[in-house]
Amino acid sequence: MTTTRFAPSPTGYIHVGNLRTALMNYLIARKAGGTFILRIDDTDPERSKEEYVDAIKQDMEWLGLHWDRIERQSERLDRYAEAADKLREMGRFYEAFETPTELDLKRKKQLNMGKPPVYDRAALNLSDAEKEALRTERGNGVWRFKLDHERIEWNDGILGDISIDAASVSDPVLIRGDGQVLYTIASVVDDTEMGVTDVVRGSDHVTNTATQIQIIEALGGTCPRFAHHSLLTGPQGEALSKRLGTLALRDLREQGVQPMALLSLMARLGSSDPVELRSDMAELIEGFDVSRFGAAPTKFDVQDLFPLTAKHLQSLPLANVADAVAEAGVPAELAEPFWAMARENITTLGDLKGWWELCRDGAEPLIADEDRDFIAEAVALLPEGPFDGETWGTWTKAVKEATGRKGKGLFMPLRKALTGMERGPEMATLLPLLQVIRARG
Ligand code: GLU
Repeated sequence: MTTTRFAPSPTGYIHVGNLRTALMNYLIARKAGGTFILRIDDTDPERSKEEYVDAIKQDMEWLGLHWDRIERQSERLDRYAEAADKLREMGRFYEAFETPTELDLKRKKQLNMGKPPVYDRAALNLSDAEKEALRTERGNGVWRFKLDHERIEWNDGILGDISIDAASVSDPVLIRGDGQVLYTIASVVDDTEMGVTDVVRGSDHVTNTATQIQIIEALGGTCPRFAHHSLLTGPQGEALSKRLGTLALRDLREQGVQPMALLSLMARLGSSDPVELRSDMAELIEGFDVSRFGAAPTKFDVQDLFPLTAKHLQSLPLANVADAVAEAGVPAELAEPFWAMARENITTLGDLKGWWELCRDGAEPLIADEDRDFIAEAVALLPEGPFDGETWGTWTKAVKEATGRKGKGLFMPLRKALTGMERGPEMATLLPLLQVIRARG
């Protein structure tokens, strides 16, 4: 059965880049009728925070990316220790004692000589006595996985055929000197034990994948299908990594971005299919195909989310936004006509309040000197309330006959006088709302 997972580290809020990974894995699982796991990668006790675990869950729920299972790596440490023992027994695991400074120096030397900065495996030549001495002097070493120096190959769901020379990669550290298990092995153990069949993640993980394939094979597991999506850049192709902090999902939510807008964009951005606003998750699932995505960096512009949000809101019946309409201060009996007027004129639900204030309090009239008499004449012709959908038509017809004005010269001064703005809602739908308010007191 298809099983995927989204595996964030709870060291911060999740952002648009993480969302891309989460969504792709979610859609693959749902499309196949499989299982979607939310896996919290919290093996780093210092950087992992409970508040971020809660925030990740909230963000996922807000988006409607419901998980079938939740797993926490911090609760599975014994499993990782077992796997480490197995690697040790197989002679694929060795302790190394270089300090970060020493490693840095080695890398610089290699680079100077035009060589790739790959760990030189010096620790493999240490005798037991030397190791013991180093342990006494420096404490426990790190544990590295000994890669087989051969080509590591896989058919990537997005990048196509990949072939990496294991000799060009450093033996990965899987356990730190302080005993902390690192993601590289924890992830492999989880993916294998949880039956994960498909892993989609960012292309920054390609080298990890190469080493993880060898670890999976060493532990006797079956490799999932891997797909690596490109990384997001800003609208001009600039790196987004530093700005991702300002693109947290909760900030977007705060700015009024609607989940469907965000999901619709992310399910298509960087693929050969056009971005289309989808009305619900079922449609997103239906139209998703990971093989349509390309390897090139994907440009993301946060501004694209707003027209999609506006379009989504426009499509909604009152029932879906009743809370927001009430929160804006609109009385229940006016909610229906108010929404009919406002939905065409908002970008986010945050704009409702302003339109309600206009209806309730009226606007500072905008009247040009040359229109003063015209407006006075028009006001005198305003029919008795209550106003309805016909009132604007009847009234402007009467004003037209009385003043001889027509077209823009007729409508624009009236609009500006009533709303204080040159454009905005259909006057026919707005007028009854203004009237009702006035009639009510
Ligand atoms: N915790 C890892 C990350 O956030 C997970 C990567 C993976 O999907 O394997 O980068």
